[in-house]
Amino acid sequence: RGDSGDALVGSNLSIAFGGVKALQNVNITAPSKTFVGLLGPNGAGKSTCFDVLNGLKTPDSGTITMFGKDVTTMRPWDRAKLGMGRTFQANRLNHDLSVGENLLSAAHLAIKGNPITTLLGFGGPRKSEQRATEAAYAMCVLLGIKDHWHDRVSDLDFGRQRRIEIGRSLMCGPAIVLLDEPAAGLDADDAHALFALLRQLQRDLGLTIILVEHYVKAVLENADLVYVLNQGQLLASGSPAEVAADPVVRAEYLGS
Ligand code: ADP
Ligand code: MG
Repeated sequence: RGDSGDALVGSNLSIAFGGVKALQNVNITAPSKTFVGLLGPNGAGKSTCFDVLNGLKTPDSGTITMFGKDVTTMRPWDRAKLGMGRTFQANRLNHDLSVGENLLSAAHLAIKGNPITTLLGFGGPRKSEQRATEAAYAMCVLLGIKDHWHDRVSDLDFGRQRRIEIGRSLMCGPAIVLLDEPAAGLDADDAHALFALLRQLQRDLGLTIILVEHYVKAVLENADLVYVLNQGQLLASGSPAEVAADPVVRAEYLGS
């Protein structure tokens, strides 16, 4: 687990499904402890990029490193042990269980002695049920939804459900998290609040976040580094200011 340098690097990633070239020689780097945005229209290859970075799909060519270690052929659960968490575009919560139960069910994955699990009070030698519950509650507090600890997930609005999902991905104490459209279905105010929370978690927990998003403005306001995919190819990359100044990005996404 490096504290400097690059957390995650995908080099020359390509993958095709039949005739569809979902990724073509894509290069993406997430420097350690930064907030990286991945933008692009529907079908651009964003979720596929996450599947390849995460190990759910094997690229036809290209390599992936985590903190300098080659993980190209490593399975998703082994990448998780090295500190990679993710969420999916469609949420995978158990809607019949409470917020607490959903967070608690991710607690068994906690990696002992890493900064987040230690912060949650879950880093000690004893891994009792009570410690797990305390850690899940501490996460609930961090997410700003502690008043909903006992509530059924199905009774909560989208925004709060999104927070639980993010919390679940953080329970194991990842250094890198891949978030697939966490603001999907939220109105502008809720999306804004969610991005502020993510930015705060990123800084407080020293996370490297890569986030796929449709909501271009929020990404440009919060990210350190932005990549834009289109039809499987990188269209632009750089600081938010650089990407926002790109004529193609302006025309396609910013309406100017
Ligand atoms: P995005 O997340 O940017 O909307 P995706 O990564 O989901 O895009 O999809 C990129 C392209 O790859 C699309 O044309 C999609 O139809 C295709 N695709 C993705 N997954 C599969 C699959 N398992 N089989 C066939 N085609 C796929
Ligand atoms: Mg997608």
